[in-house]
Amino acid sequence: MWYPEEFDVIVVGGGHAGTEAALAAARMGCATLLLTHNIETLGQMSCNPSIGGIGKGHLVREVDALGGAMALATDAAGIQFRILNSSKGPAVRATRAQADRLLYKAAIRQQLENQPNLTLFQQAVDDLLLDADASGARVAGAVTQTGIRFRARAVVLTAGTFLDGKIHIGLQNHPGGRAGDAPAQRLSARLKELQLPQGRLKTGTPPRLDGRSIDFSRCTEQPGDGMPGGANAERPLPVFSFMGQPAMHPAQLPCWITHTNERTHEIIRSGFDRSPMYTGQIEGVGPRYCPSVEDKIKRFAGKDSHQIFLEPEGLTTNEFYPNGISTSLPFDIQLELVRSIEGLERAHILRPGYAIEYDYFDPRALRSSFETRQIGGLFFAGQINGTTGYEEAAAQGLYAGLNAALQVRGQAAWLPGRDQAYLGVLVDDLVTQGVSEPYRMFTSRAEYRLQLREDNADLRLTEIGHRLGLVDEARWSVFCRKRDALARETERLKSTWVNPRTLSQPEAERVLGKAIEREYPLFELLRRPGVGYEALLSLEGGRWRPATGAEPDDPRPVVSRETLDDGYAAVVEQIEIAAQYAGYIERQRDEVERGAAYENLRLPADMDYHQVAALSIEVRQKLSAQRPETLGQAARISGVTPAAISLLLIHLKRSR
Ligand code: FAD
Repeated sequence: MWYPEEFDVIVVGGGHAGTEAALAAARMGCATLLLTHNIETLGQMSCNPSIGGIGKGHLVREVDALGGAMALATDAAGIQFRILNSSKGPAVRATRAQADRLLYKAAIRQQLENQPNLTLFQQAVDDLLLDADASGARVAGAVTQTGIRFRARAVVLTAGTFLDGKIHIGLQNHPGGRAGDAPAQRLSARLKELQLPQGRLKTGTPPRLDGRSIDFSRCTEQPGDGMPGGANAERPLPVFSFMGQPAMHPAQLPCWITHTNERTHEIIRSGFDRSPMYTGQIEGVGPRYCPSVEDKIKRFAGKDSHQIFLEPEGLTTNEFYPNGISTSLPFDIQLELVRSIEGLERAHILRPGYAIEYDYFDPRALRSSFETRQIGGLFFAGQINGTTGYEEAAAQGLYAGLNAALQVRGQAAWLPGRDQAYLGVLVDDLVTQGVSEPYRMFTSRAEYRLQLREDNADLRLTEIGHRLGLVDEARWSVFCRKRDALARETERLKSTWVNPRTLSQPEAERVLGKAIEREYPLFELLRRPGVGYEALLSLEGGRWRPATGAEPDDPRPVVSRETLDDGYAAVVEQIEIAAQYAGYIERQRDEVERGAAYENLRLPADMDYHQVAALSIEVRQKLSAQRPETLGQAARISGVTPAAISLLLIHLKRSR
């Protein structure tokens, strides 16, 4: 049957990519349908119950700055928060939270069910409806398992690990999308028929343990930040969302640490002859940075112990996730290896570990907007683009959802630059480099990471999000208050000077470390190591004066706890970072500006690379196959040399 209503955007899949895609398109005013296998598994975490970490936390903050769901859901579900790299520079500081699985799903579902313009429907999608127009094939909707036909102007596919998913435990395997869920085989076959370029990847998960059978007295407790015994115990608990409050968090729990040992490694080695990875049963490549325990033993043969974090899965369950022993070895080996570990001698395995192989699509076959080049209106996002991780999936989902909505509205795609957002880095890496193994985000992937920090994601993106229609009025007004206070206070600090004659030596030493020999603006004093904003303001106001020639001003600070409530700490943090890193940030901005003309120079969609004189055959073939949209993208395709870029520039200048 034909479903009576038509939609602007259909999103297939209710994982981390699909939920953000559907919410984004609906927030932008598009009539949106989220079609998924099972409404009970909306926002389900297939693997570890944790969100964030280095690089990943940055993506979560960007999704949040654009009005997305992940950070707020984590604030409502987080049972342990930590700021990683807290003693390092602000660019690499990152938030990580352990989440209660059920609370996380409930928070996502609540956002979905209450989102205007969004309709949910539970059923597998088996096929896509296609039309042809002058420019070639175009998607027209989706068909479910029972033959219900839904019409739409754009479709975002976010099928995760489900396309032709195959689960491996030892030498046994069976079809599955993840443990307990059926795979998407018909849709996989249909996509193969459409000849979209694809391959196989794999990922894995550890066995889950019953907490009642763990001897925690033999493990080391690891409290979260802000918990008794944890880092920064005197400060409020960290939050993920720019709209988050520590009061939103449920009760907090510790994690526990134990280790593998020589005997564990021997047991693992004894199972190699029945490992699907080493006997050729698994063809897909696994994630380098999240390896199985058998892979770690093989790759780091000299290491006699590996750390394992025992992470609680929630407040209302005894289930524990042993982070660090992901495995697809046979169950008897899994049980023996677990019980060889200190504290786990009597552990009961609730769910066996396993590996899963699935189809992914070569992201180089996507336009920068994540629309497939082959089928107009069809967008791909999440794990099917060759990535791994909830955060990478959520960021892509939001991105594909907003670009599908822009296309439906007849507007140009929004393409963030590599200097603007980790999202820009993620998209650019995928469409220009493709993947040879599951891709995950790291701060080292971002060449402009000093300006792409977690703490300023809202200042980088919320204004754009508001313009696109992604950011609601409540978030916008909180953001504007922060942005304006920051601008006014920074200006005041730059134009308020301290006079050395009226500053006593002890007072100067207390705040600035030593006396000052001339007048300084407050902003410049803030750049001195160890000088904080609040200490600086404790210099008495009577000693300040406005810059020469400036109108006498009210010397009182623009920001205060009274005027900004919860936003105060964030504004102070921004002021301090801006002052302390001003030189580096300026240099990075200059670099971006110098490269901008070249980076954004558009290459004609119909450019014939065979006509570009002196280009090598390899470069001609690569550029013809990948069709980069800008010169910057072309430069990042492997094998495209700086010399080839110069030839392209000359060709473009001549043909104008
Ligand atoms: P998913 O979360 O897989 O969601 C896909 C959604 O689409 C599901 O709701 C599914 O029901 C629905 N769907 C699929 N096909 C159809 C269809 N035809 N019709 C209707 N609905 C459909 N990430 C890490 O970062 N580290 C890890 O260690 C790690 N280990 C993992 C281990 C396992 C066993 C698995 C399964 C995943 C692991 N991941 C890991 C990956 C992580 O789960 C994914 O990166 C993330 O969930 C991807 O989000 P997604 O939205 O793209 O897909």
